Amino acid sequence: GHLESNVSDTGQIVHAVYDVEEATSTAFDIILEHKMIKSETRASLIKFLQLLVAHHPSKRCRKGSAELLVNFDELLPPDIWSAKRQEFIIVNGKGALKNFQICGKEVPRGNWMFCRGSRNDTRGFSCGLWVLLHSLSVRVEDGESHVAFTAVCEFIHSFFICEECRQHFYEMCSSVSTPFNKTRDFVLWLWSAHNKVNERLMKEESSLGTGDPKFPKFIWPSKQLCPSCFLARSRIDWDRDEVFKFLASYYGKMLLSTHKGH
Ligand code: FAD
Repeated sequence: GHLESNVSDTGQIVHAVYDVEEATSTAFDIILEHKMIKSETRASLIKFLQLLVAHHPSKRCRKGSAELLVNFDELLPPDIWSAKRQEFIIVNGKGALKNFQICGKEVPRGNWMFCRGSRNDTRGFSCGLWVLLHSLSVRVEDGESHVAFTAVCEFIHSFFICEECRQHFYEMCSSVSTPFNKTRDFVLWLWSAHNKVNERLMKEESSLGTGDPKFPKFIWPSKQLCPSCFLARSRIDWDRDEVFKFLASYYGKMLLSTHKGH
């Protein structure tokens, strides 16, 4: 895709942070809009908010997540989730939270930069959500990597509106049997999970004509984007150390260094 070839252009990276904020804010609005906070999903949301507070690349999203976390019990009391009153509480919760914007009052802005599709119904939120997850993965410490992994798995399982996506993702999560104890393991797991989705969609989108024609799926990164990620003479064999280095820099330092003010 053409965005990939522009990766060294700092403008594109700034736009990626813009979309990480947009995705965070949109995710939160969807959760409220669809009344997805229930007694059984409440803990997942708290866990994910804790991850955002500590590691969101945007300062204003960290701040908003912290405020929400601190006031969570007041906004969404845990002790009154009786079946009949649940709806009422959530409606009230929406009322109380209506003016609460998790990444500050400028977000959501209603558009996408890095994740902008060539049509209105492609890319956008789902792209932004991936970029958010990858950005979080490279920021966690070794000792937090497994907790971060389960926070991401549970968040997607409880709050991603795409039913097919959450099921596929949950299966990939469930196939992890040994707890991660390195950031590297989590980062590479997420990268590989994303590539499995890309691989499946490569076939599906070409046969169904869905997807964004200007942004065809491919196994990522391309050789052009990261030549050192590939072992010599092989297109399929990854140099996983190099892939990790690349991801850490792509979603880590570059996002961070060009986004001082936020
Ligand atoms: P995306 O796949 O959204 O990727 C966004 C950007 O991330 C790319 O432009 C690229 O810069 C980078 N990137 C690409 N691959 C990788 C990688 N392996 N590692 C790191 N960075 C990468 N859609 C379905 O139809 N079926 C599904 O089952 C499904 N599951 C999903 C599960 C999750 C958790 C999410 C967040 C989305 C899922 N989607 C699914 C949506 C789908 O993956 C895409 O987000 C959507 O089709 C838009 O694609 P895109 O071209 O914007 O690129």
